[in-house]
Order: sequence, then structure tokens, then C-alpha cells
Amino acid sequence: MELSQARDIVYQAGLDLVKEGLVARTWGNISLRLDDHSFVITPSGRNYETLTAEEIVAVRINDLTHQGDVKPSSEKGMHAEVYRRRPEINAVVHTHQRHASTVAAARKEVTGLSEDHARLLGKSVRCAAYALPGTKKLMKAAGQALEEGRHAALLANHGALCVGSTMEAAFRVALELEGACESFIAEAFARHYGTRASTMEEMHACYLTTAP
Ligand SMILES: [Zn+2]
Repeated sequence: MELSQARDIVYQAGLDLVKEGLVARTWGNISLRLDDHSFVITPSGRNYETLTAEEIVAVRINDLTHQGDVKPSSEKGMHAEVYRRRPEINAVVHTHQRHASTVAAARKEVTGLSEDHARLLGKSVRCAAYALPGTKKLMKAAGQALEEGRHAALLANHGALCVGSTMEAAFRVALELEGACESFIAEAFARHYGTRASTMEEMHACYLTTAP
């Protein structure tokens, strides 16, 4: 794919993430494969709302070196790990989306997925062991959590990693993961209290105290 076209796709995906509320609290990062050796990714420490397509950075998969003056996301290594391990994957979306992040804080594996969710996400969504953002340890843990053809993984105390053959597919995984995690939390709450939570805040707070 052409650099300019790839940059436009990533740029548009950033705007869409904001619109869908998947980056409500803190920014995540998005990347798209250019070819077997490189990908483009959102820059480090930039707000998606003021980002320009020219600031999307090209990074090499094998050594993580980048083109130009703009620094790529510090989580580039995690994206590179996915491209290295999964030749069929061409887009990676990392978010700190709300429901998935709550399940990730409880370090739970999301099981019992509906048929529709399982078709898109994989047979379960595993939670990668905790590791500091930007480290080799996180790269490895995230790659392992995505094994067996999974399209989504949780990152302990951090957020979610969603992948797809196209940006559209990865984006859809992020959206569906949010729905699956919301149901997962609601079911855990109902099992524990025998009733539905009246607010989302109550549901999340109770989930975090009762889940482990
Ligand atoms: Zn992150």
C-alpha cells in the first residue's frame, strides 16, 4: 500500500475512535501494515483531534526504526510483534476503552462469548500478563494472548489490543469487544448480587471488588 493512502486510513480511524468513544479517557494508538517490512502508526503523545495525516509515522517491523522527525507511538513494539507473528493481520488498534479496560484491570479472560462475538473475536479474549507499556515483556505477552487466531486481547491494568485483516475489521473488533466486555461485567454483577446494577459506575466498581 502507498504511504499516503495508509496514513489517510490511520488518520480516519483515529477520528472514528474518538467518535465511537473508544478513546474517551486516554489516547490509544493505531497502525496499518505497509508491506512485509513496515507499517505506519500514530505518533507519540498526540491528540487524535489535532493530528494531521502527515504526522502518521512509518516504522520498520524488524528494528523499530522510523522515518522522519515525528516520533512514533511508544507502543510501536507491540504493533510490530503482531505484524511479525501474524502475516494475515494488516491493522492493529490499541485502546483504553472503558469496559475492556475494567475487565483488564480484573485480569480476567472473557469466556462464554456469544456466537457472533466468538466469530469475530476468537473463542475467548485472554488477558496478557501485566508488563509496563513499551517494554519487550508487554510485546511478548500481548502476542501470546492473541495466539490461536484470536483478534482481541486484554492487557492487564492497561487496555485492549484489537487486530484485523483490514482497518475496518480491526475497528469492528474493538467495537464488538466493548459490547462483549460490557455483557461479561453485567453477567458477573448479576451472578454476584442477583440483580442488575442501576448505574454503570456501580457495575464497574462492584465488578472490580468481586471479580478476583
Ligand atoms: Zn496503552
